[in-house]
Amino acid sequence: MSVYAERIARVREQMSATGVDTLLLSVGADLPYLTGYEAMPLERVTMLVVPRDGEATLVVPRLEASRVVEQPDVFTVSAWDEIDDPLERIAGLVGRGAASIGIGERTWARFVLGLQDALPGARFRSSTEVTAPLRMRKDAAEIEHLQAAATAVDRIAAEMGERPFGGRTEADVHRELADRIIEHGHQRVNFAIVGSGPNGASPHHEASERVIGDGDVIVCDFGGTMDGYCSDITRVFVVGEPTAEVRDTYAVLHEAQERAFLAATTGTPCEAVDAAARTVIEAAGYGEHFIHRTGHGIGLEEHEEPYIVAGNDRPLVSGYVFSVEPGIYFPGRFGLRLEDIVVATEAGPRRLNEASRELAVVA
Ligand code: ZN
Ligand code: ZN
Repeated sequence: MSVYAERIARVREQMSATGVDTLLLSVGADLPYLTGYEAMPLERVTMLVVPRDGEATLVVPRLEASRVVEQPDVFTVSAWDEIDDPLERIAGLVGRGAASIGIGERTWARFVLGLQDALPGARFRSSTEVTAPLRMRKDAAEIEHLQAAATAVDRIAAEMGERPFGGRTEADVHRELADRIIEHGHQRVNFAIVGSGPNGASPHHEASERVIGDGDVIVCDFGGTMDGYCSDITRVFVVGEPTAEVRDTYAVLHEAQERAFLAATTGTPCEAVDAAARTVIEAAGYGEHFIHRTGHGIGLEEHEEPYIVAGNDRPLVSGYVFSVEPGIYFPGRFGLRLEDIVVATEAGPRRLNEASRELAVVA
């Protein structure tokens, strides 16, 4: 049985457990997870129709059908021509009897609205309740892919410390990061955040023409997609000797990240991992400066379940892969964040990133 046939079989079990009659998957990661095929985000609809019982069908525009690697044990291909109505075809495959439809969260609204018109008796729900429990738990091959991507960005983090930051713009450092992400084997750059000085206090700052100067603290958060799987790492650089304040707050952050990492044992609720980081930062008096959750799952998507956040009582299971990335941000002054990707295993948490976690002093 192929890996995709196995996944479809498990998806059907999950559909039974959640009461979903038909799954409809278009753009987004659920489709490649189940078929190896990624839909183009276009006005021409691509959709995998998975009935709980019965054969799955991939409805695809004729001009893209040649990109599909056929897998008769997983799905049959139904190519539609420019004059066809693909939504009508999809509705026909779903059938009038389907009461509960799980649909991918990234499906374009125009397609969802059209399908709702064509299937007035059906209730539409998110496919995530079917697919997330499977996708969260990475198998050995997936963890190898994530490890390879993590090792690549580890090398980049080390290389970035060898070149001066001072005198360059954030945009220039961003370009270097993006180039290196591709050079080191990723096919796609997902993001390369460079936040220097006060800009570092905005966690998703877009690299600007700001020139990096002496004493600046620089948050670099970058990652890409390698063979379908994502990398994501954050390291902090400082131009010249850091001030005592920067050193002290970084030490708090470092400790918070380590505590959260150590807390990430199987059976521990996600929210307890978040609390482990938050407790350290709050105790040091910086609680109000830690303005986001501690982490997110990672795999085919750079952000996916499980989310390491207060209120998520889902216990960690062996094979869950997620970021541990606390941050401390001082608006108008500087920001700090430290991020590694971690896998939960029966033997305890294991980091996929091993680049130095020390504050990197650069020229
Ligand atoms: Zn990141
Ligand atoms: Zn992240």
